[in-house]
This record gives sequence, C-alpha cells and structure tokens, in this order.
Amino acid sequence: MKPLWTFENWLLLAREKNLSLVEVVLEKEIEETGSKRETIINELEKRLKVMRESLEAGLKREKHTPGGMIKDESKILQKFFADNSSFAGTGAIKAAIYAIAVAQENAGMGRIVALPTGGSSGIVPGVFFSLDEEKKLGDEKLKEGLLIAAGVGMVVGEKLEMAGAAGGCQAECGVAGGMAAAGAMYMLGGKEAEVFQAFALAVKNMLGLVCDPVGGLVEVPCVKRNGFAAVQALLAVDLVRGGLKSVIPPDEVVDALAEIGRLLPSSLKETAKGGLAQTKTGLDISEKNR
Ligand code: SF4
Repeated sequence: MKPLWTFENWLLLAREKNLSLVEVVLEKEIEETGSKRETIINELEKRLKVMRESLEAGLKREKHTPGGMIKDESKILQKFFADNSSFAGTGAIKAAIYAIAVAQENAGMGRIVALPTGGSSGIVPGVFFSLDEEKKLGDEKLKEGLLIAAGVGMVVGEKLEMAGAAGGCQAECGVAGGMAAAGAMYMLGGKEAEVFQAFALAVKNMLGLVCDPVGGLVEVPCVKRNGFAAVQALLAVDLVRGGLKSVIPPDEVVDALAEIGRLLPSSLKETAKGGLAQTKTGLDISEKNR
C-alpha cells in the first residue's frame, strides 16, 4: 500500500531525493496524473490568471449577491484605507481587502479558483497577491507558492474532506489559511520545517470553526471570514519567522482537524440549523430569501 501523503513523508522525500518541497509536489503530480511538467505549469499559469481576474473583478464589485447580504465591502474598505492608515498594518489590511474581494466574487457567482473550496477562495489570493505587491515576488514565485498550497491540500485531503458539510468551516477557511501560510512562508524563503510550522500555527487557530451560513448561502459569515483568515495566515508566517513553533506537529494538527470535523454536530456543518444561521436576524434573512 502507498504511504499516506503527510508532511513528514513530503519532507523525507525532499531530503532523500535532494529536491525542494515544490519539486516533490511537481513530481507527485506528474506521477499521479501522467501529465507532462509543462502541462502542469501551464495549468498553474491559467489558475493564477483566473485568481487575478477574480481579484480585479471583486475589487470593483458593487452588486448585491443573490442573498442580498453582501454588496461592495471591498470597495468600502478600499475607499476608507486610501485616506486612513490601518492599525493592523498595511500588509494585513491589504490581504484582508483582497481576500474579501475574491470571496465576494464567489458569493456573487463570479469566476474564482476554489482554494480549496469556493467559500474559502479569497484567502490564498488575498495573502499571495498582497505579498506580491509588498515584496515584488513575481509570477514564478507565486506559482511555487501555489504548488506548496496544493501539496498542503493533498496532505489534508488524505485525512478529511475539505468541505463545510463534512468538517465545518475549519475544513474550508481553516485549511485555506494553512495553505496560504505555508505558501507564503515558502515564497518568503522559509526553510522546509518553517513552511509546515506556518501551516500548523494558522490551522490550530481555526480548529473547531463551525459552518453556519445564514440562509444556507455562502455570504455570511463566509466573505468577511476570508479576510480574517488571510490576516491570520500572515501572522502565522510572522510568528514562525520570529522563532515560534507549534508544540503539536503539523501532521498531528491535521489529525485533530479531521477528528474535530467528525465530532462537530451536523447542525454546524453547512445545514444552516445552528450558529449564526439560527440567530433571529439570520432566520429573518433566511425567510426573506425563501
Ligand atoms: S461558513 Fe461554511 S459555507 Fe461559509 S465559508 Fe465556511 S465552510 Fe464555507
């Protein structure tokens, strides 16, 4: 039987073959899909293009989403922060605005890249594109970051289904935060262990996050949550850069994520039968949308 694709095995393969973490993911993709290297790189370029287009569209969006709960949030923020500084920091607010913009596109039925899902699709672009602007990373680095994010998604996918209906929002926005943190750490020159540590710190802080979308629509709390998760991913990177470590190893964090996903009641797994969806306002909105 093939060994599970874990962080530990990913690192072992990199060391055994003297390859970077990115090269190991590429080799795995080539082996599993039978695709050529150029095909995979072309596909990455296409995804990056779509991610950029959804960011641009989201930054301009001012149309109500189908449930009417989201409209022009990213525009409101852009306007305010054009004249005001952020207490959280320039990079953080930019990541949040970008993540919200893409998540708005998803909520408004625009075109996005699922990372790992539509509901959490703003987090990786929010982190990657804000870093790209601040640090001038360039497309080659962004593609490497995407491969790291994909590798992380594959590790998590071995143990749980990445869907709010299966594991709560920790399995969507939580995982996306981990993908973004790991990808960002790599792009910023982090060592292998630091890349996985950034994942662990980002995801640990999202464990137990429930999926309670108002009216069963991917609008509230989803869109703003993308902004928060993007900022947390950046903070995870900074904590690792500053020398902190997750006491619980990354693979065990994935085990905990999977276990918590199983333990969460179905009322908090996308059924809109609990949490924010069942508040008075949530129910009123839901009723109006019937
Ligand atoms: S709350 Fe549920 S629907 Fe919304 S982003 Fe999270 S997992 Fe997806």
